[in-house]
Amino acid sequence: MVLLLSSRSIRASADSGTGVSSTRQTAVTSRSVLPVGTLARMPRLSEYLLPTEREPPADAEALSHKLLVRAGLVRQVGAGLWSWMPAGWRAHQRIVQIIREEMNAIGAMEMLMPIMQPAELWRRSGRYDAFGDELFKLEDRKQADLVLGPTSEEVVTTHAAAFVRSYRDLPKILYHFQTKERDEPRPRAAVLRSREFVMKDAYSFDRDRAGLDVSYEKHARAYDRIFDRCGLEWYSVEADVGAMGGFGAHEYMAPCPAGENDVVLAPGYAANLEVASAQAPHVELPPALAAPEEVATPGLTTIAEVAGALEVAEGALLKAYPVVLNDDSLVLAMLRGDHKVNEIKLGLALGAQFRPATAQEIEERLGPPGSIGPVGAQVRILLDDAVVADGGGYVVGANRPNLHLRGVVPGRDFAYERGDFRTVLSGDTVGGHAVRIEPAIEVGNIFKLGTRYSVALGANYLDQSGSSQPIWMGCYGIGPARIAAAAIEQFADASGISWPRAIAPFDVHLVSLGKEGAEERAYADRLYEELETAGLQTLYDDRDAGPGEKFADAELLGCPLRVTVGRRTLQNREIEVQVRRGQESRTVPLDGAAATVFDLWRETA
Ligand code: ATP
Ligand code: MG
Repeated sequence: MVLLLSSRSIRASADSGTGVSSTRQTAVTSRSVLPVGTLARMPRLSEYLLPTEREPPADAEALSHKLLVRAGLVRQVGAGLWSWMPAGWRAHQRIVQIIREEMNAIGAMEMLMPIMQPAELWRRSGRYDAFGDELFKLEDRKQADLVLGPTSEEVVTTHAAAFVRSYRDLPKILYHFQTKERDEPRPRAAVLRSREFVMKDAYSFDRDRAGLDVSYEKHARAYDRIFDRCGLEWYSVEADVGAMGGFGAHEYMAPCPAGENDVVLAPGYAANLEVASAQAPHVELPPALAAPEEVATPGLTTIAEVAGALEVAEGALLKAYPVVLNDDSLVLAMLRGDHKVNEIKLGLALGAQFRPATAQEIEERLGPPGSIGPVGAQVRILLDDAVVADGGGYVVGANRPNLHLRGVVPGRDFAYERGDFRTVLSGDTVGGHAVRIEPAIEVGNIFKLGTRYSVALGANYLDQSGSSQPIWMGCYGIGPARIAAAAIEQFADASGISWPRAIAPFDVHLVSLGKEGAEERAYADRLYEELETAGLQTLYDDRDAGPGEKFADAELLGCPLRVTVGRRTLQNREIEVQVRRGQESRTVPLDGAAATVFDLWRETA
């Protein structure tokens, strides 16, 4: 059994010079079978720094931002720069510990790589420019270029290149908790999107794609356990692999109103809106005509105006989205008038990078903007999958001013390629079930990188036949700060935070109602010791403040249990215990109170 010493006992020994007192040692030993958490001397609030506020910051919109500040857990230093106050850091560290345990359980090895990295590595991977303005760049006194790492693929791959020789050295999983620096364009919501934050980033190294699949699956299971243990509501969704490519990715999402991501959900289906696909509801089309017929639409440019004037559904119009690819060719993406282009999906459907065509390019190669259409256009046409012509005819632009064509039949009147590039809408279906779209915070992600970093940075191994092969890599990130913020968003109520048990700054918030010298204070002092002995990390509010202030702070901070020692209940030799989530209170006999509180704590969410 590991003997864990609290810093208080170490301090006591330093003060007295007699070593750790036996009572403290017994008290502390019992902790080793008890809750996970960082051990520190459990504070008395009269000596602690918990700068609670009645009012949220004026610029705070997200609930977690307001409550983190009001509960005294974080403080702003600058744009996107935040300090964690002592109680906030305790919650953060509990999250870190859960992640660490689950990473270690899949055989991952913790290490630490530097924040500051040579720019040269980023040049070799091609990300020095590709990362864009989010990358902090600096120069040292010798004019050497450096970057502040937003992530560590370049560094870890360089290590792999040096250490991995043969197939016998693989597989391996390395990870660290390290501060990340990102010049986010829009830092927001306190720690939800900051410019400096701690990330757990892990990297797997395998011989081949099958090996990567195994490492990826291990991480997926570890992530399931991490988010379950943190007490979050969460799900994993299919994610975009990004412009750099990759072999698969999932994001771990915590649904809540402050989330910046939209997730599309149906029974058995969950995907980021960025990549989601679904069936569009049928749209009533006017009849197809024997040939397209011109209709005058003077001054009508929007879908709504044209549909209104021609008395057809907006979905009976086809709208055009002209784009120019890297090779300078123009492609006309066409989709239903009631749908929107999803640029990520369009990029995937085109298999190329693109930009919207300029007015001049449209004018030169198609016709006047505002009335663009596919009939007679001498360009590639990509038709969205939701455009179906089951006997009906569409309305399209005529590539001439103030004119549209109606009765148009795709295939007959213009040639096309197919693609799925529209944004899913609520009302669409997957497997016959209507989808729901809800906002969520991305708390983590897993990504099959493949060989792009190993090829760029020369991380190879010799296979069984002695030939050199690139290492197959995966990367796996989690933001502990986002877990904390997501938990606040998901479980807070009108009075404040309600932490999941496993990540609360303290297990118990002990409130003594009497003033210094009062009888209830003596009982509370003793209970405080007993709660700690029972292994409960306890914040003891021993301040000479009124009950209103003490209760308000306890509700705001949101520890799973609030234990109150007050004169009224003491008369019956009882104390009061309130379960924070749901705010249900009960009295508990003073005798054996610590054990009862421990049992109640174990039952909390
Ligand atoms: P986002 O799309 O939200 O910007 P990302 O794709 O840039 O996230 P990664 O680079 O994969 O995120 O980082 C892994 C994890 O780090 C994220 O899942 C998230 O939990 C956390 N994270 C990323 N950016 C930030 C940030 N600016 N502030 C706090 N945590 C962050
Ligand atoms: Mg980002």
